[in-house]
Amino acid sequence: MEDICGWVALAGNYTSHPTFKGAQTTDWAIIGGGFTGLAAARRIANLDPNARIILIEGKRVGQGATGRNSGFVVANESPGHAALSSASGRAGYAALNALDHAGVAATKRLVESHKINCQWEDTGSIHAATSSKNFGTLRHHAQAFADMGINATLLDEAALQKRLGTAHYKLGVLSTGGALVQPAMLAKGLADSLPEQVEIYENSPVLKLVQDGDGAVLTLKDGTLRANKVIVGVNAFMPRLGIQADRVFPLALTASLTRPLSKAEEDQIGHAASWGVLSPQSLGATMRLTKDRRILIRNTAEYRPSGIDLPTLAQRRGLHYQGLKKRFPWLAGDAIDYTWSGNICVSANSKPVFRKLSNNIFAAGCYNASGVARGTIMGRLIVDLAMDVPSTLLDTANSLPKPSWIPPRPLFDIAAKTRMAFERAKGKSEC
Ligand SMILES: Cc1cc2nc3c(=O)[nH]c(=O)nc-3n(C[C@H](O)[C@H](O)[C@H](O)COP(=O)(O)OP(=O)(O)OC[C@H]3O[C@@H](n4cnc5c(N)ncnc54)[C@H](O)[C@@H]3O)c2cc1C
Repeated sequence: MEDICGWVALAGNYTSHPTFKGAQTTDWAIIGGGFTGLAAARRIANLDPNARIILIEGKRVGQGATGRNSGFVVANESPGHAALSSASGRAGYAALNALDHAGVAATKRLVESHKINCQWEDTGSIHAATSSKNFGTLRHHAQAFADMGINATLLDEAALQKRLGTAHYKLGVLSTGGALVQPAMLAKGLADSLPEQVEIYENSPVLKLVQDGDGAVLTLKDGTLRANKVIVGVNAFMPRLGIQADRVFPLALTASLTRPLSKAEEDQIGHAASWGVLSPQSLGATMRLTKDRRILIRNTAEYRPSGIDLPTLAQRRGLHYQGLKKRFPWLAGDAIDYTWSGNICVSANSKPVFRKLSNNIFAAGCYNASGVARGTIMGRLIVDLAMDVPSTLLDTANSLPKPSWIPPRPLFDIAAKTRMAFERAKGKSEC
């Protein structure tokens, strides 16, 4: 089997861009063509229409995690116990939540103003569980949302069955404010609507980045780029560039997308409107019924710094199939059209990277599985930090605690694998 992201495959033709060659100079270099890099490029162009802006992508723009995610434009992340147990926990959650809501609004504005066709739906999202072991966590979510003024409703089994078309889930919490999208179409639209002043290079991985006098130098396979300022938006690949390697690490996720439901299957699901379900367990399944009537499942996450090879992906596809059949036993045949893997960037305390790394180099990333909205807002704000453009939101981003320290490899590998095995066992019933 091949690793083919369904969203990317279904997004239509992509604009292609040249590879980077030669020795060049620029006012701004942006490394990474995901939500963070795209938002940063747009912001610089808006603030400084005369600047030379070069965006460099190692593979294809919008086809990394940005095009391969589950498409939740997350407004209200799962509130962990920290969000209720201490005043600082609640303040930390509220700060991220304010950024996420600003990120959803900013993304929606872009979708509307550039008429980006990306199946955007203001459906909010549902945290739901099948196992009674997780009901306490869901009630905790509902309470935490209520305490923080977030609009949320508890849904019982009957309400869930009616809304989702499956009897699998027994308790859920619907929270509003977020949206669902086809992420590859969103990213493609964001890239294609960038101001002309943004020059894009693809298939041009930056191999080395160093601060140099009053600028920075990027080394690529076929050239070098000297930039006055650099924005790093490479997310899970930060450690490979020598950035935040003692703070952040990648997790490899896999997902599958089915073919569109048949008429008989539509009857089975009760012609339910599109929905998105998240698990209260970090390693439980993410599920969607998409606008184009397919079902998405993402039910694995693992610490594999070298990525997911094809035999492993085939095994993970088997787990997706089991997860689908548990929820939709009537699904005919294999039904899965696409299976793929992707990386998220994680820190031990779930805090993002948002910082000035040196005089001329700035980095934003590491949003767990909440980077659609958060990447869009943090990509904008990291430019504001670099250009000294004050705002309350920038103060909020600056106030976030930094990712906590993690031990070096191979010590960290052992700790991460042990922790993931524990989380997997905890989340098993929700896969
Ligand atoms: C399966 C899956 C499901 C997810 N579900 C959701 C979800 O439903 N909702 C949500 O909000 N988030 C979700 N996420 C997380 C979300 O996709 C990320 O948080 C988001 O993409 C981060 O955006 P980014 O631009 O910071 O990084 P990325 O999207 O990772 O983009 C970074 C880019 O940098 C490029 N790059 C890396 N190294 C270099 C280099 N050296 N030189 C040049 N370019 C380089 C990469 O090729 C990539 O294109 C999910 C992720 C995965 C994998």
